[in-house]
Amino acid sequence: MRAALSRTVPVVAALAAVAPAPAPAQPVDPPADEPPPNVGAERDGATRVFPIDGPHTYSDGSGDRPHHEGQDVLAACGMPLRAVKDMTVRRVATEAAAGRYLVLHDSSSGADYVYMHMSAIDVAAGEHVDAGQRVGAVGQTGDATACHLHFETWTAPGWYAGGSPHDPMALLRSLGDS
Ligand SMILES: [Zn+2]
Repeated sequence: MRAALSRTVPVVAALAAVAPAPAPAQPVDPPADEPPPNVGAERDGATRVFPIDGPHTYSDGSGDRPHHEGQDVLAACGMPLRAVKDMTVRRVATEAAAGRYLVLHDSSSGADYVYMHMSAIDVAAGEHVDAGQRVGAVGQTGDATACHLHFETWTAPGWYAGGSPHDPMALLRSLGDS
């Protein structure tokens, strides 16, 4: 059976008047007096120093082990460790896994910088340390099978104070240039 022929519907041109398009808007330039973007606490111009004063190599990184919250940087035992920036010593302690460790607090950002497995610690809680100041030495105290610095960075308000650890590799690379 053939389909019924469709009726031809006359096409009625849409002739409704269309308002002329407005002139294209001028590109909007940012106001000249716009304040600079927030450059963040890591770009405040303060001096920053690689935490190990001497030859070092990176281990396999933080992703290879569960619950590993920092980066391991291999270096000879006894090599000086330096404060990454001007900070206050938040904690000096010894624990089975961390060995002798140090927590430095950056009061400007609220971040903490943690050094573990140290063979020596030269500073005491509450002290101010300048960027580059020696704070101790590389070791293998605690749960460590080689001389190395286990280095952690924590967001404000810091280490086990409500902050979170984040991978410090980018910071280390930017400071270490190696
Ligand atoms: Zn580690």
